[in-house]
Amino acid sequence: MRYAIIADIHANLAAFTAVLEDIESRGGVEALWCLGDIVGYGPDPHRCLELLRQQEHICVVGNHDWAAIGRIDTAYFNPAAAEACQWTAHQLTPGDRQYLESLPLLLEPGDFTLAHGSPREPIREYIQSDVSARENLAYFKTSFCLVGHSHVPFVFECDESGQAHFGALDGDTVLKLAEKRLIINPGGVGQPRDGDPRAGYAIYDSEACSVTHYRIPYDIAATQFRMREYGLPESLVKRLSFGW
Ligand code: ZN
Repeated sequence: MRYAIIADIHANLAAFTAVLEDIESRGGVEALWCLGDIVGYGPDPHRCLELLRQQEHICVVGNHDWAAIGRIDTAYFNPAAAEACQWTAHQLTPGDRQYLESLPLLLEPGDFTLAHGSPREPIREYIQSDVSARENLAYFKTSFCLVGHSHVPFVFECDESGQAHFGALDGDTVLKLAEKRLIINPGGVGQPRDGDPRAGYAIYDSEACSVTHYRIPYDIAATQFRMREYGLPESLVKRLSFGW
């Protein structure tokens, strides 16, 4: 079985569509495993939710998903993110809100744990260092954990002594799954932040015991055009060109 691992779509329909097309071009998958933040920042929250819900999928909730339905306040968001969040809240249909409300904080398909930020604090924590990766190993029981939130693709590999070691993930990197516990971030679909503006995602192949990471170009200008059309903050528009 093959599953696509996607995170941080952030209402970027052009990026999400390009990723879905890329998945199809590689023979398709059984289901999408989505790591949250479907909405926030981008111009198409409703259409991204609609498209996701048309796919076979499972999904955990992200901080922007909760903020858009008022489950957390935007006081700790930067001003541009908070402004986009207010705008997003007005674009959602009752069905969209109900769907976001229904999303769990954690899921455990097979030997994987899915969380938006981290298994310890799914909504707020960023796993960005050896220390936070190591500490989080105690908060999931499965061999592998998948997270999003930072929009930066990475893998942390745990050694026998319980230390976690950072590894960068570039497009077409293949991770072999064996005894070592791993925390993997597939990067962001709709707002990459590692200096590469292409959408990131991964495919887990249960027979090959591998996770392969991909980077996909998409029509960034189309998303930027729609963001300007809706008057979304210019800083959010520009960052898509640079992947930060
Ligand atoms: Zn995000």
